[in-house]
Amino acid sequence: MRAVVLISGGLDSMLAVKLTEELGIEPVPVNFDMGFSQAKHRQKVPPKKPHPAGTQILRERGYDVHTIDVAEEYFYNVLLHPRHGYGSQVNPCIDCKIYFQKKAWEYGQTIGAEFIVTGEVLNQRPMSQRRNILFVIEKEAGLEGMVVRPLSGRILPATIPEKKGWIERSRMFDIEGRGRLRQMELAKNYGFAEFETPAGGCLLTEEHIAHRFFDRFRAEGKDNPDFKEYQLLKVGHHFRFSPSCTMVTGRNFYENKYIAEYAPLIRKDALLLDTQDIPGPLSILMGPDCGEHLEIALRITARYTDLKGNAMVKILDKQGNPLSERVSEGIEEWEYAKYRVLLDTAKKR
Ligand code: SF4
Repeated sequence: MRAVVLISGGLDSMLAVKLTEELGIEPVPVNFDMGFSQAKHRQKVPPKKPHPAGTQILRERGYDVHTIDVAEEYFYNVLLHPRHGYGSQVNPCIDCKIYFQKKAWEYGQTIGAEFIVTGEVLNQRPMSQRRNILFVIEKEAGLEGMVVRPLSGRILPATIPEKKGWIERSRMFDIEGRGRLRQMELAKNYGFAEFETPAGGCLLTEEHIAHRFFDRFRAEGKDNPDFKEYQLLKVGHHFRFSPSCTMVTGRNFYENKYIAEYAPLIRKDALLLDTQDIPGPLSILMGPDCGEHLEIALRITARYTDLKGNAMVKILDKQGNPLSERVSEGIEEWEYAKYRVLLDTAKKR
């Protein structure tokens, strides 16, 4: 008998795979790429001290982790208009889980899975792991009684797989709350020495990402957003010059590369500002009125070079074709601070 195990990339879902096996069920690990997972982003913009993602660890141990790219569909159908709202940042956790469970079940039906397993722990998170919310989620996903949570299974109502005798309730755990001690013990038993954030890294729970989202929602609305452009919210310093003109300035080689990769894909008019000959950022200036803000954008870009002062900045179209170049005077911090997208200017919902 098989079950689909939802893999977030964090420790809890890795443990869920092992515990499913111990229940005598073949785990089929499935990971959804929803466009804002840290693990996926790190493949393009690696941090200084990387931790291996749960998907990678499981693969190294011989599990065939199936990754399904849902990023664009998730953006339009879940992230922009969550029926249950956002959590403390821009994380639509309840709608997200409903969506993932539905998708997991769709996939499960193609491979003969009987039910779904998650690494959820009762009351671990305030929004989506409260007892009543767990059941709202599975009901709205059309999966009442079909979601097994082996880390907390003994303190949750019996599921259909238990009632049918497919799994033994006594072999599940009774973990509850935010403490991680028991998960750490289990990790040790299973030899999981390294893993990223225990619950799996989701960029939507990060404050700086939320600032950028809410800045954009407030200035541009949600009527005609561009998924590719929103992917740029994951990198760089962010500036807003008008309701329709923003700039993202890369902070390192990988972010510059990321900006160059996404620039041709966005719908808006855009210019790239490049300090090619000296170490510095690549900026993307976006919006129909971006020409009006070119001067200040050039000066900010010059400010972020290693010279921190006057620099030759090349102006390119969004495909990377050179248009012109200008010597730009680096701007002082007090002059550009008002354009930065920061918490106090952005987080007004
Ligand atoms: S933390 Fe992120 S991935 Fe996890 S449920 Fe919330 S929105 Fe979805």
